[in-house]
Amino acid sequence: MRLSQHLRPVLDMLFPPRCVSCGRLGTFLCDTCLQEAQAIDARVCIHCGVPMTQRGQCPHCRIDPPTPLRAIRGVFFFQGPIRQGIHSLKYEGRHELAPILARPLAQYLHDHPIPLDFIVPVPLHPERQAQRGYNQSALLARALGRLRHLPVHEHALQRIRATQSQTHLSRQERLANVRGAFAATENLKNARVLLVDDVATTGATLRACAQALQQAGATHIWALTVARAHPPYPIEVQMGNNTRIPP
Ligand SMILES: [Zn+2]
Ligand SMILES: [Zn+2]
Repeated sequence: MRLSQHLRPVLDMLFPPRCVSCGRLGTFLCDTCLQEAQAIDARVCIHCGVPMTQRGQCPHCRIDPPTPLRAIRGVFFFQGPIRQGIHSLKYEGRHELAPILARPLAQYLHDHPIPLDFIVPVPLHPERQAQRGYNQSALLARALGRLRHLPVHEHALQRIRATQSQTHLSRQERLANVRGAFAATENLKNARVLLVDDVATTGATLRACAQALQQAGATHIWALTVARAHPPYPIEVQMGNNTRIPP
């Protein structure tokens, strides 16, 4: 545990919790900001969950659906208070944001029940985790597990290869970058698993995780993230008017 974690109670007394988005005192992400956060509605690609103007398959999934994932869903657009909350959880050591951001995930599972045996967080590479001191996805998974009374197999997956940042990579490059980067550490025969992460963009990382889970025997694999980022890469497939991804 890093020194900052020991100092936190003292710092909280001197500098009480403030909403990372609006600055309101009392919590790290207030209910008003959470309610104002833009949720992704039902108009998404049925496979990869990318927002569209109507429900159906996105052009990518028509050609290459994210198998073995049954589906990927993100609760919010990656912007505004949600983006600030995730940033603070990930880079500023604000662990307190995990249970707050896990609440909408729990609500999603309540509204869209999935038969699940346990939750698995997307792992960080051990070096990255040592630098950061924690894995934000594991914090979210633990909080979600508590809220939904589901076991969390925190170490069922490990990242066996460090990967370069995906930020400036195309979709195809992202898929290649993370392929084979994960391995399961336990027998998952017939398991029904929910992968949890903070943000998905193309879903390439989630898909690589799902492939490792499937190799270990998992039969049903879904993925749920707090946010869905707009793909920053140029859309490579010509889209009809009905399947335009919002700008
Ligand atoms: Zn607020
Ligand atoms: Zn899709």
